[in-house]
Amino acid sequence: MNHDENSRSGSMLDPADWEELRQQAHTMLDDMLDYLRDVRSRPVWQPAPESARQQFHAVLPRTGDSLNQLHQVFMQDVLPYAAGNAHPGFMGWVHGAGTVTGMLAEMLAAGLNANVGGRNQMPVEVERQITRWMAELFGFPADASGVFVTGTSMANLLAVWIARVRFMGVDVRRNGVATTHLAPVAYASAATHGSLEQAFDLSGFGTRVLRRVPLNDNRQIDTEALRVMIAADRARGFHPFMLTGNAGTVDTGAIDDLAELARIAREEGMWFHVDGALGAPAMMHPQLAEKLVGIGEADSIAFDFHKWGQVPYDAGFILVRDASLHLDTFSSPAAYLRREQDGLAGGSPWPCDLGPDLSRGFRALKTWFTLRHLGMDVLGESMARSCQVAQHLAARVTSEPELELLAPVALNIVCFRYVCDDADRVNAKIAVAVQLSGEAAPSTTLIDGQLAIRAAIVNHRTREEDVDRLLAAVLRWGREYSGRTT
Ligand SMILES: *Cc1c(COP(=O)(O)O)cnc(C)c1O
Repeated sequence: MNHDENSRSGSMLDPADWEELRQQAHTMLDDMLDYLRDVRSRPVWQPAPESARQQFHAVLPRTGDSLNQLHQVFMQDVLPYAAGNAHPGFMGWVHGAGTVTGMLAEMLAAGLNANVGGRNQMPVEVERQITRWMAELFGFPADASGVFVTGTSMANLLAVWIARVRFMGVDVRRNGVATTHLAPVAYASAATHGSLEQAFDLSGFGTRVLRRVPLNDNRQIDTEALRVMIAADRARGFHPFMLTGNAGTVDTGAIDDLAELARIAREEGMWFHVDGALGAPAMMHPQLAEKLVGIGEADSIAFDFHKWGQVPYDAGFILVRDASLHLDTFSSPAAYLRREQDGLAGGSPWPCDLGPDLSRGFRALKTWFTLRHLGMDVLGESMARSCQVAQHLAARVTSEPELELLAPVALNIVCFRYVCDDADRVNAKIAVAVQLSGEAAPSTTLIDGQLAIRAAIVNHRTREEDVDRLLAAVLRWGREYSGRTT
């Protein structure tokens, strides 16, 4: 085939002029590299003006515009008004920053356009490599099972589904949970992410099945209270079947005593699940890993590569100790019969046998590139740096009489507030003012009913100077809104 034939795909959707397209593609790539290189010089966040929103009230297009034109719209009306989580000043919620490595891998994955639901293809093998690595990281058996999902919200739901099959047997898939005469109950701390409660809703158990266990002073699950609740439930005829521990709660980053929870789960015959959305990747750093002792005894771990792992969105994952139970929860025997030993329909089980998705993207590639290119040591080191920055912020808050630390800093999240009358209202106003200033972007949460300004240092770019800027802004707006003068 000569170059000329090569250059024409015969499709009306492919470029007419590949050379012109190549130029445009390089411009787009360069713009994103410049954006990431210079992100520090931008505001963290700014609200989108009406003119930008109007771009997206256009009528459905009959004919196309040039790529160049659309790229300009992206640069002018989309890029400047994103949430800003690539920026070192972004400290709201729990957002990863992404990396250039991940961005480039996403481009390769999109070009290949693999559908990683199944079939005998290497992209499935790349996903299995991630599963094998995660089994190694968490000390799971080598034949443990795993699958990419959108995020930990979905991974928590998968865990409840799998625990339900363990508890009620595979027939529950036909009969449903409503037919059981057992009275199931499950446990998690009061600081557990709302997605777990939602998983009990969506799985048909109902949210009342999930008992919320009180916290101790470190905002970890109170294991004594847990034991008392389990005994009381058993005495009343309930059947405890699942216990969820947190490896980094979303509000303060507290890590439950996972070894003790593993013991309780084993004694009581419960499925032990860990929500490690935020904290589980800390296993990549030897000292941080010590905080997670016991995580390797879990039956399942849900976590996100897209938060502290810095893989571009989305890249949630669930690791399951018992591979056959995982398969029994989702696989469809009808589909199995159509699988072959050889050919493109070989190589079962497939990712689509391990979760509810059939068509699914190549999340494994950006994760594989991130782990292979940056390496676990550097990724772990950047997480340890986040914790140092959080400790710096906590120390500064403690030394500042106008500020108050509202929760212990176990990991990388600092909850604090400006001390004044009507503090809930004033601190909520401060958080919004800081966001609008573009200098930093904290979020807020409630700690024992008190409104806290919350800085989660998840971004690998965030340094001491960035949290110093946050504090300066908080003090400035705090004085203004509280009417205090110093
Ligand atoms: C973010 C988070 C979740 C939800 O994960 P998504 O990836 O956003 O679906 C669940 N639990 C904890 C502790 C989290 O921090």
